Amino acid sequence: MKRRDFLKKAGLKAAAAAAVTAGVVGCAKKEEEKKEEKKAPAVVAKKTYNWKMVTTWPPKLPVLQEGCERLAKRIGELSDGRLQIKVYAAGELVPAMGIFDAVSQGTVEVGSGASYYWAGKAPAAQWFAAVPFGMNAQGMAAWFHGGGGLKLWEETYAPFNLIPRPGGSTGVQMGGWFNKKINSIKDYKGLKMRIPGLGGKVIAKAGGTVVLLPGGEIFTSLERGVIDATEWVGPLHDLRMGFYKAAKYYYYPGWHEPGTYLEYFFNKKAYESLPKDLQHIIDAACMENEHWVLSQFDARNGAALQTLINKHKVNLIKFPDTVLDDLRQLAAEVVAEEAAKDAMSKKVNDAFQNFQKVVGTWGSVSEKAYYDIIAFKFSLRG
Ligand code: CA
Repeated sequence: MKRRDFLKKAGLKAAAAAAVTAGVVGCAKKEEEKKEEKKAPAVVAKKTYNWKMVTTWPPKLPVLQEGCERLAKRIGELSDGRLQIKVYAAGELVPAMGIFDAVSQGTVEVGSGASYYWAGKAPAAQWFAAVPFGMNAQGMAAWFHGGGGLKLWEETYAPFNLIPRPGGSTGVQMGGWFNKKINSIKDYKGLKMRIPGLGGKVIAKAGGTVVLLPGGEIFTSLERGVIDATEWVGPLHDLRMGFYKAAKYYYYPGWHEPGTYLEYFFNKKAYESLPKDLQHIIDAACMENEHWVLSQFDARNGAALQTLINKHKVNLIKFPDTVLDDLRQLAAEVVAEEAAKDAMSKKVNDAFQNFQKVVGTWGSVSEKAYYDIIAFKFSLRG
């Protein structure tokens, strides 16, 4: 900053000197005044904002916490240092499940998690993260940015003084790690599985016992038989957790989280107190990060899957079609029950279902049809 001011002043002096030698002193003075006038608003705009961001993720968690760090860095770069955001992982400043309230109350300015964590406060929030047998990452992005989904999300968060922005998707997650084979829906009876959210409600409907465990306790619980199965994210994060050492089968696809969207949310008052250009920078950086997050998931999940298959010889199994058909039916019941909880949930679910019908029909003749015709190029091993 100081260096820039110095250079500017030096430039002005040089211009003035040049004008004097040319014998146009009056003119040079006017030029100098004009430049000073132009400089004035720039000085005002240079006010620096120091914000805090709290997340639901452990420190250094690939793509997720890493993505929040990246977002803060990009906002700093794009604003030329005018908006600095310091990122805190879960528990460093606020516990994971406390971040929604902390940002809502304005204790901190920014939060990042997944909107289904806030189902207890706003049931409608779940549709912006993951719906079993709902839309994948591409469909969700289309809904947010091309189908009015983000407007509904803003409406859902407005009573909490929050402004949400889509934070990128995990892509289709994996079905999970199992120590018992799933050949029919009956195999879920008595199955103890760690699976949160709406997916968990579906498993409970199928007769399973849903066990909620913090990330750090899943591996040991699986290894010791406290649970029979767990889902987590996808190959990248699952490999890091070492689940292949504790479970026999790795099932796909993750019907319960077909394209889980992450979120950034901002305290409304803090966001609106920023000059317009900084608000635009936040929006642009969020959208850039949205793209970055999905790209990272796809690229690194692809690589991690190869490691799981070829190095760790993981037994990869697709859920039987009959099981998926039964789960789909149970999921429809669960989603309908959730949608009946309040008016906003009904409104969001109606919009979601209508959009999925349209975008899904298009997807079946575009993305799906294309995947099918090139499927011969890929084999799971080698
Ligand atoms: Ca998951």
